[in-house]
Amino acid sequence: MSNRREFIVQFGLGSSALLASQAFAQAMVADADPQAAALGYHADGSKTDKSKFPKYAADQHCGTCALFQGKAGDKSGGCPLFAGKQVSANGWCSAYAKKG
Ligand code: SF4
Repeated sequence: MSNRREFIVQFGLGSSALLASQAFAQAMVADADPQAAALGYHADGSKTDKSKFPKYAADQHCGTCALFQGKAGDKSGGCPLFAGKQVSANGWCSAYAKKG
């Protein structure tokens, strides 16, 4: 293998690892975040205060929400309501909309 090709292969692998670590480093939304509190978000949707959010149902969670940007089976993923952060696939907020 030529040095140039080795460089390209190693650089490619390094870039992938860097991107993966950056994605991993994205902060999780905390229940106490002001935006989370306003939307009634809990990383564990079962902790939703049903007296304030009667719309909540036990079978609803971020992983099945139309706004969830993670893949099926991901433990967390992006949500446009929390730019730059990740929500838990088991989370829930009052903007929940079932994935079509
Ligand atoms: S909009 Fe959907 S994916 Fe985003 S926090 Fe609310 S329930 Fe979760």
